[in-house]
Amino acid sequence: MAKVLIIGAGGVSRVVTKKCAMNSSVFSQIVLASRTKSKCDKIAAEIKESLHVSVQTATIDADDVDALVALIEEVKPDLVMNIALPYQDLSIMDACIKTKTPYLDTANYEHPDTAKFEYKEQWARDKAFKDVGIMALLGSGFDPGVTNVYCAYAQQYLFDEIHYIDILDCNAGDHGYPFATNFNPEINLREVSSNGRYWEDGKWIETKPMEIMMQWDYPEVGVKDSYLLYHEEMESLTQNIKGLKRIRFFMTFGESYLTHMKCLENVGMLRIDEVEVNGVKVVPLQLLTKLLPDPASLGPRTVGFTNIGCLITGIKDGKAKKVYIYNVCDHQECYRETGAQAVSYTTGVPAMIGAKMMLEGKWSGKGVFNMEQFDAKPFMDELNIQGLPWKILEMKPDETFEIK
Ligand code: NDP
Repeated sequence: MAKVLIIGAGGVSRVVTKKCAMNSSVFSQIVLASRTKSKCDKIAAEIKESLHVSVQTATIDADDVDALVALIEEVKPDLVMNIALPYQDLSIMDACIKTKTPYLDTANYEHPDTAKFEYKEQWARDKAFKDVGIMALLGSGFDPGVTNVYCAYAQQYLFDEIHYIDILDCNAGDHGYPFATNFNPEINLREVSSNGRYWEDGKWIETKPMEIMMQWDYPEVGVKDSYLLYHEEMESLTQNIKGLKRIRFFMTFGESYLTHMKCLENVGMLRIDEVEVNGVKVVPLQLLTKLLPDPASLGPRTVGFTNIGCLITGIKDGKAKKVYIYNVCDHQECYRETGAQAVSYTTGVPAMIGAKMMLEGKWSGKGVFNMEQFDAKPFMDELNIQGLPWKILEMKPDETFEIK
Protein backbone atom coordinates (compact mmCIF):
# COMPACT_ATOMS: atom_id res chain seq x y z
CA MET A 1 0.00 0.00 0.00
CA ALA A 2 1.70 3.17 -1.15
CA LYS A 3 1.08 6.78 -2.05
CA VAL A 4 2.42 8.08 -5.33
CA LEU A 5 2.75 11.65 -6.63
CA ILE A 6 2.58 11.79 -10.46
CA ILE A 7 3.80 15.05 -12.05
CA GLY A 8 2.63 15.96 -15.58
CA ALA A 9 -0.79 15.42 -17.16
CA GLY A 10 -0.12 14.80 -20.88
CA GLY A 11 -0.59 11.74 -23.07
CA VAL A 12 1.82 9.49 -21.14
CA SER A 13 0.55 10.59 -17.73
CA ARG A 14 -3.01 9.64 -18.67
CA VAL A 15 -1.81 6.05 -19.14
CA VAL A 16 0.43 6.04 -16.03
CA THR A 17 -2.35 7.39 -13.80
CA LYS A 18 -4.93 4.99 -15.17
CA LYS A 19 -2.61 1.99 -14.88
CA CYS A 20 -1.72 2.93 -11.28
CA ALA A 21 -5.46 3.13 -10.53
CA MET A 22 -5.89 -0.34 -12.10
CA ASN A 23 -3.23 -1.62 -9.66
CA SER A 24 -4.74 -0.04 -6.56
CA SER A 25 -3.53 -2.85 -4.27
CA VAL A 26 -0.06 -1.31 -4.73
CA PHE A 27 -0.92 2.32 -5.58
CA SER A 28 -3.48 2.83 -2.84
CA GLN A 29 -3.33 6.65 -3.02
CA ILE A 30 -2.65 8.68 -6.17
CA VAL A 31 -2.00 12.42 -6.39
CA LEU A 32 -1.74 13.92 -9.90
CA ALA A 33 -0.15 17.38 -10.21
CA SER A 34 0.72 19.44 -13.27
CA ARG A 35 1.09 22.98 -14.56
CA THR A 36 -2.51 23.00 -15.82
CA LYS A 37 -4.71 21.53 -13.07
CA SER A 38 -7.75 21.23 -15.36
CA LYS A 39 -5.86 18.51 -17.31
CA CYS A 40 -5.33 16.58 -14.04
CA ASP A 41 -9.01 17.01 -13.13
CA LYS A 42 -10.08 15.63 -16.52
CA ILE A 43 -7.94 12.49 -16.09
CA ALA A 44 -9.14 12.09 -12.48
CA ALA A 45 -12.80 12.38 -13.55
CA GLU A 46 -12.33 9.73 -16.26
CA ILE A 47 -10.70 7.37 -13.77
CA LYS A 48 -13.47 7.94 -11.22
CA GLU A 49 -16.07 7.10 -13.84
CA SER A 50 -14.38 4.07 -15.41
CA LEU A 51 -12.58 2.52 -12.41
CA HIS A 52 -14.30 4.10 -9.38
CA VAL A 53 -10.87 5.09 -8.01
CA SER A 54 -10.27 8.58 -6.55
CA VAL A 55 -7.28 10.59 -7.74
CA GLN A 56 -6.40 13.82 -5.92
CA THR A 57 -5.16 16.69 -8.09
CA ALA A 58 -2.92 19.74 -7.59
CA THR A 59 -1.18 22.55 -9.47
CA ILE A 60 2.61 22.58 -9.67
CA ASP A 61 5.30 24.41 -11.59
CA ALA A 62 7.88 21.64 -11.70
CA ASP A 63 10.68 24.05 -12.67
CA ASP A 64 10.41 25.54 -9.16
CA VAL A 65 12.30 23.39 -6.63
CA ASP A 66 10.84 25.21 -3.59
CA ALA A 67 7.29 24.72 -4.85
CA LEU A 68 8.04 21.03 -5.47
CA VAL A 69 9.48 20.61 -1.97
CA ALA A 70 6.36 22.23 -0.47
CA LEU A 71 4.07 19.93 -2.50
CA ILE A 72 6.06 16.79 -1.64
CA GLU A 73 6.06 17.75 2.06
CA GLU A 74 2.31 18.25 1.95
CA VAL A 75 1.51 15.05 0.01
CA LYS A 76 4.22 12.86 1.66
CA PRO A 77 4.37 10.33 -1.21
CA ASP A 78 6.38 7.09 -1.14
CA LEU A 79 7.50 7.85 -4.71
CA VAL A 80 7.50 10.80 -7.12
CA MET A 81 6.89 9.86 -10.77
CA ASN A 82 8.15 12.52 -13.17
CA ILE A 83 5.90 12.24 -16.24
CA ALA A 84 6.31 15.91 -17.21
CA LEU A 85 9.07 16.83 -19.66
CA PRO A 86 12.83 16.11 -19.62
CA TYR A 87 13.45 19.80 -18.78
CA GLN A 88 12.03 19.13 -15.29
CA ASP A 89 14.22 16.10 -14.44
CA LEU A 90 16.82 17.97 -12.40
CA SER A 91 14.44 20.20 -10.44
CA ILE A 92 12.26 17.22 -9.50
CA MET A 93 15.33 15.12 -8.59
CA ASP A 94 16.62 17.95 -6.40
CA ALA A 95 13.27 18.26 -4.64
CA CYS A 96 13.31 14.48 -4.05
CA ILE A 97 16.81 14.70 -2.54
CA LYS A 98 15.70 17.54 -0.24
CA THR A 99 12.63 15.63 0.93
CA LYS A 100 14.28 12.14 0.88
CA THR A 101 11.66 10.81 -1.53
CA PRO A 102 12.35 8.13 -4.19
CA TYR A 103 12.20 9.31 -7.83
CA LEU A 104 11.34 7.83 -11.25
CA ASP A 105 11.26 9.28 -14.78
CA THR A 106 10.89 8.19 -18.41
CA ALA A 107 13.39 10.38 -20.30
CA ASN A 108 16.82 11.86 -19.59
CA TYR A 109 17.47 15.48 -18.72
CA GLU A 110 17.37 17.93 -21.57
CA HIS A 111 18.66 21.48 -21.27
CA PRO A 112 16.17 23.93 -22.82
CA ASP A 113 18.95 25.67 -24.82
CA THR A 114 20.82 22.63 -26.23
CA ALA A 115 19.63 19.28 -27.57
CA LYS A 116 22.00 16.87 -25.82
CA PHE A 117 20.00 13.95 -24.43
CA GLU A 118 22.60 12.78 -21.95
CA TYR A 119 22.62 11.28 -18.45
CA LYS A 120 25.64 13.22 -17.16
CA GLU A 121 23.80 15.62 -14.88
CA GLN A 122 21.42 13.00 -13.55
CA TRP A 123 24.21 10.50 -12.86
CA ALA A 124 26.08 13.33 -11.08
CA ARG A 125 23.32 13.24 -8.45
CA ASP A 126 24.11 9.60 -7.56
CA LYS A 127 26.07 10.59 -4.46
CA ALA A 128 23.33 12.95 -3.23
CA PHE A 129 20.74 10.15 -3.58
CA LYS A 130 23.10 7.72 -1.81
CA ASP A 131 23.78 10.23 0.98
CA VAL A 132 20.08 10.55 1.81
CA GLY A 133 19.56 6.79 1.33
CA ILE A 134 16.99 6.83 -1.47
CA MET A 135 16.69 5.51 -5.02
CA ALA A 136 16.18 7.18 -8.41
CA LEU A 137 15.15 5.05 -11.40
CA LEU A 138 15.91 6.67 -14.76
CA GLY A 139 14.20 6.03 -18.08
CA SER A 140 11.28 3.75 -17.15
CA GLY A 141 9.38 4.10 -20.44
CA PHE A 142 9.65 1.84 -23.51
CA ASP A 143 12.77 3.20 -25.18
CA PRO A 144 14.49 3.95 -22.86
CA GLY A 145 12.95 1.50 -20.43
CA VAL A 146 11.69 -1.80 -21.78
CA THR A 147 14.48 -1.90 -24.37
CA ASN A 148 17.03 -1.69 -21.50
CA VAL A 149 15.17 -4.49 -19.69
CA TYR A 150 15.13 -6.67 -22.85
CA CYS A 151 18.94 -6.24 -23.07
CA ALA A 152 19.33 -7.00 -19.36
CA TYR A 153 17.14 -10.11 -19.72
CA ALA A 154 19.28 -11.28 -22.64
CA GLN A 155 22.45 -10.68 -20.64
CA GLN A 156 21.15 -12.32 -17.47
CA TYR A 157 19.16 -15.26 -18.90
CA LEU A 158 19.86 -15.90 -22.61
CA PHE A 159 23.51 -15.21 -23.49
CA ASP A 160 27.02 -15.74 -22.09
CA GLU A 161 28.27 -12.79 -24.14
CA ILE A 162 26.41 -10.09 -26.09
CA HIS A 163 28.25 -8.58 -29.07
CA TYR A 164 25.71 -6.64 -31.17
CA ILE A 165 22.45 -4.87 -30.32
CA ASP A 166 20.10 -3.12 -32.76
CA ILE A 167 17.17 -1.40 -31.06
CA LEU A 168 14.30 -1.14 -33.54
CA ASP A 169 11.41 1.25 -32.96
CA CYS A 170 8.65 0.90 -35.52
CA ASN A 171 5.44 2.89 -35.36
CA ALA A 172 3.26 1.73 -38.22
CA GLY A 173 0.27 3.65 -36.90
CA ASP A 174 -1.68 6.17 -38.98
CA HIS A 175 -3.37 9.19 -37.35
CA GLY A 176 -4.62 10.64 -40.63
CA TYR A 177 -2.90 14.05 -40.22
CA PRO A 178 -0.29 15.13 -42.80
CA PHE A 179 2.06 15.90 -39.88
CA ALA A 180 1.84 15.25 -36.13
CA THR A 181 4.18 13.80 -33.52
CA ASN A 182 3.09 10.96 -31.28
CA PHE A 183 4.69 12.35 -28.15
CA ASN A 184 5.58 15.89 -27.05
CA PRO A 185 6.39 17.65 -30.39
CA GLU A 186 9.20 19.79 -28.99
CA ILE A 187 11.10 16.82 -27.54
CA ASN A 188 10.32 14.60 -30.54
CA LEU A 189 11.56 17.11 -33.14
CA ARG A 190 14.69 18.00 -31.14
CA GLU A 191 15.52 14.27 -30.98
CA VAL A 192 14.86 13.51 -34.63
CA SER A 193 16.58 16.58 -36.13
CA SER A 194 19.80 16.06 -34.12
CA ASN A 195 22.84 14.28 -35.57
CA GLY A 196 22.68 10.48 -35.49
CA ARG A 197 25.20 8.49 -33.45
CA TYR A 198 26.01 4.83 -32.80
CA TRP A 199 28.66 3.06 -30.75
CA GLU A 200 31.22 0.64 -32.18
CA ASP A 201 34.47 -0.77 -30.76
CA GLY A 202 34.42 1.61 -27.81
CA LYS A 203 33.80 4.79 -29.80
CA TRP A 204 30.79 6.93 -30.76
CA ILE A 205 30.42 7.42 -34.52
CA GLU A 206 28.43 10.49 -35.53
CA THR A 207 26.23 10.70 -38.64
CA LYS A 208 24.22 13.51 -40.17
CA PRO A 209 20.49 13.48 -39.27
CA MET A 210 18.77 10.63 -41.17
CA GLU A 211 22.00 9.80 -43.04
CA ILE A 212 21.71 6.02 -42.54
CA MET A 213 18.48 4.31 -43.62
CA MET A 214 17.78 0.60 -43.64
CA GLN A 215 14.62 -1.29 -44.51
CA TRP A 216 13.59 -3.78 -41.87
CA ASP A 217 10.81 -6.35 -42.31
CA TYR A 218 9.24 -6.02 -38.86
CA PRO A 219 7.52 -9.20 -37.62
CA GLU A 220 3.71 -8.81 -37.67
CA VAL A 221 4.00 -5.29 -39.19
CA GLY A 222 5.93 -5.46 -42.49
CA VAL A 223 8.71 -3.59 -44.29
CA LYS A 224 9.43 -0.03 -43.07
CA ASP A 225 12.13 2.54 -43.82
CA SER A 226 14.12 2.87 -40.59
CA TYR A 227 16.60 5.64 -39.81
CA LEU A 228 19.59 5.53 -37.52
CA LEU A 229 19.19 7.99 -34.63
CA TYR A 230 21.01 8.65 -31.40
CA HIS A 231 18.86 7.43 -28.53
CA GLU A 232 19.55 7.83 -24.87
CA GLU A 233 19.39 4.20 -23.69
CA MET A 234 22.58 3.49 -25.68
CA GLU A 235 24.58 5.66 -23.26
CA SER A 236 23.86 3.45 -20.24
CA LEU A 237 23.77 0.16 -22.17
CA THR A 238 27.33 0.70 -23.47
CA GLN A 239 28.40 0.85 -19.82
CA ASN A 240 26.28 -1.97 -18.43
CA ILE A 241 26.33 -4.66 -21.17
CA LYS A 242 29.79 -6.17 -20.95
CA GLY A 243 31.59 -7.34 -24.09
CA LEU A 244 29.42 -5.25 -26.40
CA LYS A 245 31.00 -4.49 -29.79
CA ARG A 246 28.28 -2.35 -31.37
CA ILE A 247 24.91 -0.83 -30.51
CA ARG A 248 22.64 1.11 -32.87
CA PHE A 249 19.11 2.52 -32.73
CA PHE A 250 16.66 2.75 -35.64
CA MET A 251 13.26 4.45 -35.84
CA THR A 252 10.71 4.32 -38.65
CA PHE A 253 9.42 7.47 -40.34
CA GLY A 254 6.98 7.85 -43.20
CA GLU A 255 7.65 10.02 -46.22
CA SER A 256 5.13 12.71 -45.21
CA TYR A 257 6.73 13.12 -41.75
CA LEU A 258 10.22 13.49 -43.22
CA THR A 259 9.16 15.92 -45.96
CA HIS A 260 7.38 18.14 -43.43
CA MET A 261 10.28 17.98 -41.01
CA LYS A 262 12.83 18.92 -43.68
CA CYS A 263 10.69 21.80 -44.85
CA LEU A 264 10.12 23.09 -41.28
CA GLU A 265 13.85 22.81 -40.63
CA ASN A 266 14.72 24.65 -43.87
CA VAL A 267 12.50 27.59 -42.95
CA GLY A 268 13.87 27.76 -39.39
CA MET A 269 10.82 26.47 -37.51
CA LEU A 270 12.90 23.86 -35.58
CA ARG A 271 15.20 26.52 -34.10
CA ILE A 272 15.40 26.45 -30.30
CA ASP A 273 16.88 29.94 -29.88
CA GLU A 274 14.73 33.03 -29.39
CA VAL A 275 13.75 35.31 -32.26
CA GLU A 276 12.00 38.65 -31.85
CA VAL A 277 8.69 39.25 -33.63
CA ASN A 278 7.11 42.68 -33.19
CA GLY A 279 8.89 43.11 -29.88
CA VAL A 280 7.85 39.64 -28.61
CA LYS A 281 10.48 36.94 -28.06
CA VAL A 282 9.50 33.58 -29.55
CA VAL A 283 11.25 30.21 -29.78
CA PRO A 284 10.18 28.89 -33.23
CA LEU A 285 10.00 25.23 -32.11
CA GLN A 286 7.78 26.21 -29.16
CA LEU A 287 5.45 28.11 -31.50
CA LEU A 288 5.31 25.08 -33.81
CA THR A 289 4.50 22.85 -30.82
CA LYS A 290 1.48 25.05 -30.05
CA LEU A 291 0.27 24.75 -33.66
CA LEU A 292 0.63 20.97 -34.04
CA PRO A 293 -2.00 18.48 -32.85
CA ASP A 294 -1.69 17.64 -29.15
CA PRO A 295 -0.32 14.05 -29.04
CA ALA A 296 -2.82 13.32 -26.26
CA SER A 297 -5.61 13.96 -28.82
CA LEU A 298 -4.38 11.33 -31.32
CA GLY A 299 -5.84 8.35 -29.45
CA PRO A 300 -9.23 8.04 -31.14
CA ARG A 301 -7.86 8.54 -34.69
CA THR A 302 -4.71 6.39 -34.68
CA VAL A 303 -4.96 2.92 -36.22
CA GLY A 304 -2.32 0.26 -36.81
CA PHE A 305 0.47 -1.24 -34.76
CA THR A 306 3.82 -0.53 -33.12
CA ASN A 307 6.66 -3.05 -32.99
CA ILE A 308 9.55 -2.14 -30.71
CA GLY A 309 12.31 -4.63 -29.98
CA CYS A 310 15.96 -5.52 -29.63
CA LEU A 311 17.86 -7.65 -32.14
CA ILE A 312 20.66 -9.19 -30.10
CA THR A 313 23.61 -11.28 -31.30
CA GLY A 314 26.21 -13.03 -29.16
CA ILE A 315 27.38 -16.37 -27.76
CA LYS A 316 25.66 -19.04 -25.64
CA ASP A 317 27.43 -22.27 -24.60
CA GLY A 318 30.18 -21.58 -27.14
CA LYS A 319 27.75 -21.23 -30.06
CA ALA A 320 26.60 -18.14 -31.97
CA LYS A 321 23.10 -17.02 -30.92
CA LYS A 322 20.68 -14.39 -32.19
CA VAL A 323 17.28 -13.34 -30.86
CA TYR A 324 14.70 -10.63 -31.49
CA ILE A 325 12.82 -9.71 -28.31
CA TYR A 326 9.83 -7.52 -29.09
CA ASN A 327 6.36 -6.27 -28.36
CA VAL A 328 3.59 -5.50 -30.83
CA CYS A 329 0.95 -3.04 -29.70
CA ASP A 330 -2.38 -2.15 -31.35
CA HIS A 331 -3.13 1.60 -31.21
CA GLN A 332 -6.89 1.09 -31.05
CA GLU A 333 -6.71 -1.53 -28.30
CA CYS A 334 -4.62 0.91 -26.22
CA TYR A 335 -7.20 3.61 -26.86
CA ARG A 336 -10.06 1.38 -25.77
CA GLU A 337 -8.26 0.54 -22.52
CA THR A 338 -6.80 3.94 -21.56
CA GLY A 339 -8.02 6.62 -24.00
CA ALA A 340 -4.46 6.98 -25.37
CA GLN A 341 -2.62 5.79 -28.50
CA ALA A 342 0.12 3.15 -28.39
CA VAL A 343 3.11 5.51 -28.06
CA SER A 344 1.70 6.97 -24.83
CA TYR A 345 0.62 3.46 -23.76
CA THR A 346 3.98 1.79 -24.39
CA THR A 347 5.63 4.55 -22.30
CA GLY A 348 3.06 4.78 -19.52
CA VAL A 349 2.70 1.08 -18.74
CA PRO A 350 6.48 0.56 -18.09
CA ALA A 351 6.51 3.72 -15.94
CA MET A 352 3.84 2.15 -13.74
CA ILE A 353 5.72 -1.18 -13.69
CA GLY A 354 9.00 0.53 -12.71
CA ALA A 355 7.15 2.24 -9.85
CA LYS A 356 5.60 -1.09 -8.83
CA MET A 357 9.07 -2.72 -8.78
CA MET A 358 10.31 0.04 -6.45
CA LEU A 359 7.27 0.12 -4.16
CA GLU A 360 7.21 -3.69 -3.82
CA GLY A 361 10.95 -3.69 -3.06
CA LYS A 362 11.72 -5.98 -6.04
CA TRP A 363 14.09 -3.30 -7.33
CA SER A 364 15.84 -1.44 -4.54
CA GLY A 365 19.05 0.44 -3.82
CA LYS A 366 20.50 3.76 -2.85
CA GLY A 367 21.61 6.12 -5.61
CA VAL A 368 20.73 6.72 -9.27
CA PHE A 369 20.05 3.65 -11.44
CA ASN A 370 19.27 2.74 -15.04
CA MET A 371 16.81 -0.03 -15.78
CA GLU A 372 19.33 -2.70 -16.86
CA GLN A 373 21.03 -2.61 -13.46
CA PHE A 374 18.30 -4.78 -11.87
CA ASP A 375 17.01 -8.33 -12.26
CA ALA A 376 14.99 -8.17 -15.49
CA LYS A 377 12.75 -11.17 -14.71
CA PRO A 378 10.12 -9.56 -12.40
CA PHE A 379 9.75 -6.62 -14.81
CA MET A 380 9.43 -8.97 -17.82
CA ASP A 381 6.73 -10.94 -15.93
CA GLU A 382 4.79 -7.73 -15.24
CA LEU A 383 4.97 -6.68 -18.92
CA ASN A 384 3.01 -9.84 -19.78
CA ILE A 385 0.41 -9.12 -17.09
CA GLN A 386 0.00 -5.36 -17.61
CA GLY A 387 -0.66 -5.17 -21.36
CA LEU A 388 2.74 -5.27 -23.10
CA PRO A 389 3.36 -8.99 -23.74
CA TRP A 390 6.70 -9.80 -25.37
CA LYS A 391 7.90 -12.52 -27.69
CA ILE A 392 11.32 -13.96 -28.37
CA LEU A 393 12.12 -14.94 -31.94
CA GLU A 394 15.06 -17.35 -32.06
CA MET A 395 16.95 -16.63 -35.29
CA LYS A 396 19.77 -18.32 -37.15
CA PRO A 397 23.03 -16.39 -36.58
CA ASP A 398 23.12 -15.18 -40.21
CA GLU A 399 19.37 -14.57 -40.45
CA THR A 400 18.14 -10.98 -40.62
CA PHE A 401 14.96 -9.12 -41.41
CA GLU A 402 16.91 -6.29 -42.92
CA ILE A 403 15.97 -5.98 -46.63
CA LYS A 404 19.18 -5.56 -48.62
P1 NDP B 1 2.99 15.98 -23.12
O1 NDP B 1 3.54 17.22 -23.71
O2 NDP B 1 1.72 15.39 -23.64
O3 NDP B 1 2.77 16.20 -21.53
C1 NDP B 1 3.70 16.83 -20.72
C2 NDP B 1 3.00 17.27 -19.43
O4 NDP B 1 3.99 17.87 -18.58
C3 NDP B 1 1.91 18.30 -19.67
O5 NDP B 1 0.79 18.00 -18.88
C4 NDP B 1 2.58 19.60 -19.19
O6 NDP B 1 1.69 20.52 -18.63
C5 NDP B 1 3.47 19.06 -18.08
N1 NDP B 1 4.52 20.04 -17.81
C6 NDP B 1 5.40 20.61 -18.68
N2 NDP B 1 6.16 21.50 -18.05
C7 NDP B 1 5.78 21.49 -16.76
C8 NDP B 1 6.20 22.21 -15.61
N3 NDP B 1 7.17 23.12 -15.66
N4 NDP B 1 5.56 21.96 -14.45
C9 NDP B 1 4.56 21.05 -14.38
N5 NDP B 1 4.12 20.35 -15.42
C10 NDP B 1 4.71 20.57 -16.60
O7 NDP B 1 4.16 14.91 -23.14
P2 NDP B 1 4.03 13.30 -23.21
O8 NDP B 1 3.00 12.86 -22.24
O9 NDP B 1 3.96 12.92 -24.63
O10 NDP B 1 5.50 12.88 -22.66
C11 NDP B 1 5.78 12.84 -21.28
C12 NDP B 1 7.20 12.38 -21.06
O11 NDP B 1 7.39 11.07 -21.56
C13 NDP B 1 8.27 13.25 -21.76
O12 NDP B 1 9.35 13.43 -20.87
C14 NDP B 1 8.70 12.41 -22.93
O13 NDP B 1 10.02 12.70 -23.35
C15 NDP B 1 8.60 11.03 -22.31
N6 NDP B 1 8.52 9.93 -23.30
C16 NDP B 1 9.29 8.83 -23.09
C17 NDP B 1 9.24 7.76 -23.96
C18 NDP B 1 9.99 6.50 -23.66
O14 NDP B 1 9.73 5.48 -24.31
N7 NDP B 1 10.89 6.46 -22.70
C19 NDP B 1 8.40 7.81 -25.19
C20 NDP B 1 7.54 8.98 -25.27
C21 NDP B 1 7.64 10.00 -24.35
P3 NDP B 1 0.73 21.46 -19.51
O15 NDP B 1 -0.26 20.51 -20.07
O16 NDP B 1 0.17 22.44 -18.60
O17 NDP B 1 1.60 22.04 -20.60
